Amino acid sequence: MQSKLFIDIGGTNLRSELEIDNKIIEDNISSEDVDLIEFIESKLKIYPKISFIGISFAGQVNNGIIISSPNIKVSNHNIKSFFEKRYNLKLEIDNDLNCAIRAESNYFNSKFITAIYIGTGLGCAVIDNGKLVTGVNNQSFELGHIPYKEAPFKCGCGKNNCIELFASGKAIEKWLDYKNISYKNINLENREIEEIFKQALLRAVSTAITLSNSKIIVLGGGVIEKNPYLIDWIKKEIKNQVMPNILKDIKIVSSKLKNGAIDGSRLLS
Ligand SMILES: [Zn+2]
Repeated sequence: MQSKLFIDIGGTNLRSELEIDNKIIEDNISSEDVDLIEFIESKLKIYPKISFIGISFAGQVNNGIIISSPNIKVSNHNIKSFFEKRYNLKLEIDNDLNCAIRAESNYFNSKFITAIYIGTGLGCAVIDNGKLVTGVNNQSFELGHIPYKEAPFKCGCGKNNCIELFASGKAIEKWLDYKNISYKNINLENREIEEIFKQALLRAVSTAITLSNSKIIVLGGGVIEKNPYLIDWIKKEIKNQVMPNILKDIKIVSSKLKNGAIDGSRLLS
């Protein structure tokens, strides 16, 4: 029987779901430990009847080619053509937020929707009038890399003023280290760090709302899941940041999906 493999490469983990004989086999490993091509080939060795692979990728991707891979080793960036030529299967890959927004749009049944996920990084994607906004190189709404303030450390993209250096899981860890604050888990318990994070998050969300004019703004990702109070705080503060006409019909909500990115990788088929 034919089977399908869905993969979510996040900032920290590689999660996969293999659909075979009406069963789903889940796997979750650290993305630091593997090469993506080798990981897929190892699955194909055990399950040679995989006919479709859908990949949600935290990094830049265009036309089946991985442009930048900040979180995982990739020994062949031309991933779609590599697997489709070598194996009898179809492979689709897109940026993780582009995958998540497909799933969020389905869930909320909305044609005008923006997703902002704050996990290891800060990602954003927009569906406008039912169509995914891509830009010419599939890199539009790279919200995490808009200029904000100078940070004492560098972003993965090479700049030192990206908003992701202030509002992301990685940023919380970097600021805790920089301020010499001891911690057991990466969290927002320190007031100073929380303030740095919240102000940047507010700037990111208000920028996305102002540019997209979406009806639904869905916030998700690990940092939001662990700190749901941030949603109410954003709803209150956003009134001082965004033009009233844009805010009029808007709904700011938390994601209800367990893993929007992997759900979205299913929608690539
Ligand atoms: Zn950056």
